[in-house]
Amino acid sequence: MLESRALGAQQLVGTGDLDAILFAGLPNIRYLTGFSGTDGVVVVTASAVYFLCDSRYTTQARAQVAATEVREYKVKLDGVLALLRELGVRRVGFEADLLPYAVYETFQQKGEGISWVPLTRRLASLRGRKDATELELLEQAARLNAEAFAEILPLIRPGARECDIALELEIALRRRGGEDKAFDFIVASGERGALPHGVASEKTLAAGELVTVDFGTRRGGYHSDETLTLALGEVSERHRMIYDCVLQAHDLALAAIRPGVALRDIDAVARNHIAASGFGDYFGHGLGHGVGLEVHEYPTASSRSEDLAEEGMVFTVEPGIYIPGFGGVRIEDTIVVTAEGCRRLTRISKDFRILPV
Ligand code: ZN
Ligand code: ZN
Repeated sequence: MLESRALGAQQLVGTGDLDAILFAGLPNIRYLTGFSGTDGVVVVTASAVYFLCDSRYTTQARAQVAATEVREYKVKLDGVLALLRELGVRRVGFEADLLPYAVYETFQQKGEGISWVPLTRRLASLRGRKDATELELLEQAARLNAEAFAEILPLIRPGARECDIALELEIALRRRGGEDKAFDFIVASGERGALPHGVASEKTLAAGELVTVDFGTRRGGYHSDETLTLALGEVSERHRMIYDCVLQAHDLALAAIRPGVALRDIDAVARNHIAASGFGDYFGHGLGHGVGLEVHEYPTASSRSEDLAEEGMVFTVEPGIYIPGFGGVRIEDTIVVTAEGCRRLTRISKDFRILPV
């Protein structure tokens, strides 16, 4: 698996008229070599993969890393430049989104005769199609979501604080083997549901409210991400109308996904449905985002997206309606694009659900 990933990077070297690509971003390093530590550098040439780290990580790297060679440096930048010189590299690509400007400047000054080529989209797409190993980990993370949520569901009731629900959910995920929370969980009830990023507060839940719960964890570095909106007892007709509209938008978007379709067109399917229902002003964010070693990564499914769905791509579908002073609904699943359409990785039903009060 790792060999074929490195091959993808090596092909980029060839097609990009480069001698090497320097990877400093940890998700890319983990993807290419399997290294799960928190500091290191990878240099990929057309025929080899070099992993560089300091002495804290040498033992771990030698055991964990798939690379042509593992090297130890004392000072990172010097170690990288020494290797590039040794390999006779003249043109080296780098992660333009990630490399700090100060580091770039030092490379320019010290790396005489080496030109630095910023790479963005071509690198992002490297991790765009998930392989079987990655999908398995993404499914495991999604399964943890379903199990942990089932466990804490009885706690979601009037009188509970949003922050306590978030904490219990995090503990339930960790106890089952979740490595960490994927992000600060959103638990937003009542009017707070109108905040798309309403991180759990000390507010107490009340009967007649909707509560939005957006959460996820990590397995083998791979994230889960999903959102449910639940009714605490009977809710108003308007609440129900909004819920049904968002669910329809979600379902229509899922039905539109298949290889070759522009992600902005999938965004439009959901957005047009919400607009046609009269709520067009209340869906401000994009439809979804890629999920993998990062919880937000390539591709973007929004009206500005230039990406096409490809088999093996994993991204979220998360339409929402947020009405200030009233409340909101978001429904989110993480899906993988298949040959014929898509398959949900997240497992919890998104049908309208009334919790007992
Ligand atoms: Zn989410
Ligand atoms: Zn999301």
